[in-house]
Amino acid sequence: MSNNRIPIHSILGSDVVEKISVWAEKSPTISELVEFLSLEFQIDITSDLDIVNGYERDCSNINGNAEVLCRPINELECALVLRCCQSVKIPLTISAGRTNLTGSATPEGGVILSIEKMTQPKVKVDSASKTITTPVGIYLEDMRKEALRQSNNKLHYPVDPTSRKEAMVGGTLSCNASGFIPGPAGATRYWTEGLEFLTPNGFKISCKRGDYISENGEFIIDFPDGEVIVKVPSYPRPDIKNASGPFSDENGHVDLVDLLVGSEGIFGLITSSTFRLKEMPDEFLDMFFTLPNEIDAVRFHHYISNHFEGDLSQITALEYFGYNCQTYMDHRETLFNSTTEVGIYLQIPLYNETVEDVAEDWLNILTNSDCGIHEDGILLLNTPQNWQTFFEARHSIPSNALEKTRQLDTWSILTDTIVPPDNFPEFLDVTHSILQTADIEYLLFGHLGDCHLHFHLIPTKDQQHKALEVYHQIIEKSAELDGVYSAEHGTGKRKRPDFLKCYGEEAAEQVRSAKAALDPDFLLNRGNVVEPVGVQIR
Ligand SMILES: Cc1cc2nc3c(=O)[nH]c(=O)nc-3n(C[C@H](O)[C@H](O)[C@H](O)COP(=O)(O)OP(=O)(O)OC[C@H]3O[C@@H](n4cnc5c(N)ncnc54)[C@H](O)[C@@H]3O)c2cc1C
Repeated sequence: MSNNRIPIHSILGSDVVEKISVWAEKSPTISELVEFLSLEFQIDITSDLDIVNGYERDCSNINGNAEVLCRPINELECALVLRCCQSVKIPLTISAGRTNLTGSATPEGGVILSIEKMTQPKVKVDSASKTITTPVGIYLEDMRKEALRQSNNKLHYPVDPTSRKEAMVGGTLSCNASGFIPGPAGATRYWTEGLEFLTPNGFKISCKRGDYISENGEFIIDFPDGEVIVKVPSYPRPDIKNASGPFSDENGHVDLVDLLVGSEGIFGLITSSTFRLKEMPDEFLDMFFTLPNEIDAVRFHHYISNHFEGDLSQITALEYFGYNCQTYMDHRETLFNSTTEVGIYLQIPLYNETVEDVAEDWLNILTNSDCGIHEDGILLLNTPQNWQTFFEARHSIPSNALEKTRQLDTWSILTDTIVPPDNFPEFLDVTHSILQTADIEYLLFGHLGDCHLHFHLIPTKDQQHKALEVYHQIIEKSAELDGVYSAEHGTGKRKRPDFLKCYGEEAAEQVRSAKAALDPDFLLNRGNVVEPVGVQIR
């Protein structure tokens, strides 16, 4: 039976708690924290700035700063670090693969807790329940491979973000990372069955999906020195792919698992997770095909949605290569002809069927779509050579765009906006118009199955200010059209203003209130999603 009262486990013995209290009473410095944790508890912790500096920056490229790095190896060590930092009010930032693009692992002072050594107990697949239990410090791709290996290729973990070889399981949970599959099944939250989790003051909560559901908008957590009420955010959350802000529900019913996944580490540290697995398809049918223009691509999205009766999670990829991608793409002459501007990569999972069985049918489905798709514009990717060509073409786009950015000695902006399908054409029209009026170089690609396309802006140096203004206009437009600013990258520190534009100050206050209930001084992952208000910054 589910309820909203959450029991906690004290994993630190009373003698240890007492030792920490006595130590904290002396108002220790951060150097004394290093000494205490290493000498008393043999935790890997250092204030050697040559080492710490390597963890201060993530893929957002925002400048960070920290004084100390620690690399705990298990939940007990994590609990010790959390407890000590809370006791003496030292900020602590959790760091995993550091591939986030929003600054969510960028430290703003204090200690960095890297989860890279949180690799035990080893990944375990339970074939009967079709689940996998995993530590958080391993790379997502290693976990995905382990799922296949232990199940003899029968079960797989379908979430496949592009960064899966560099992102760790903990990071993907915390950001609700998503991959190519359209719909909710593309994102981490959908597959998360259970979590082991430490509160900011180092107590443990174990939760399975369905165990704890907030009532009247509240969870009650039973800490040893009294209960704490956490009011869950209730800002309206559009029912689309969404990584913007912690999970919320207007009626106040939130599963604890849903609240923790995607909360960017502001409520605590996840130490282990159990995911559901899916039956591995026998084969995939992979196709790349071209269309005359963007309008045809949007029509194709509509057509294919109807074909699958609105459930696009039956396909495993519907990726779009739109405006200006050809300019940045190797092998464009092999993939496109002079009458086609845009392309789509479609992947269909096959169960009890072979590519030979279905290829002909799919050629017919595509050419009958009335979206300008011709047989000579369809490339089956199920031969090594065709796959290689497509693979190189696809991966050349970001690297050529990066090269252009370097040549211009500038930076680029990647939007992560999404709007509901009905508003998608209008959003595209307006955004193209904003960008073309500003005369900023850009390209457009992304996850057509979710109506989630990335505009990649490459302003010249002189246009940088204008590019930021344009970005804000795009964010405003997405909010106006019932969308959100982030479908997959999250908020971190960079997109806090976007959260406000999208959900408003009251929503930020709701997140702050939930955060403050567990972490009154905003010490853990300070600055993610919302700015701390009314706390003293150490
Ligand atoms: C080239 C590239 C491609 C990308 N492609 C995708 C994509 O296809 N889909 C997508 O969704 N994202 C993508 N991203 C964004 C990024 O990879 C994801 O957000 C990823 O989930 C971050 O994981 P990480 O291990 O790098 O976490 P980090 O960047 O280290 O941390 C991210 C956040 O998670 C928190 N955190 C980490 N571990 C824990 C934990 N155990 N408990 C609590 N909080 C924790 C951190 O404090 C931080 O707030 C891409 C990024 C790059 C650079």
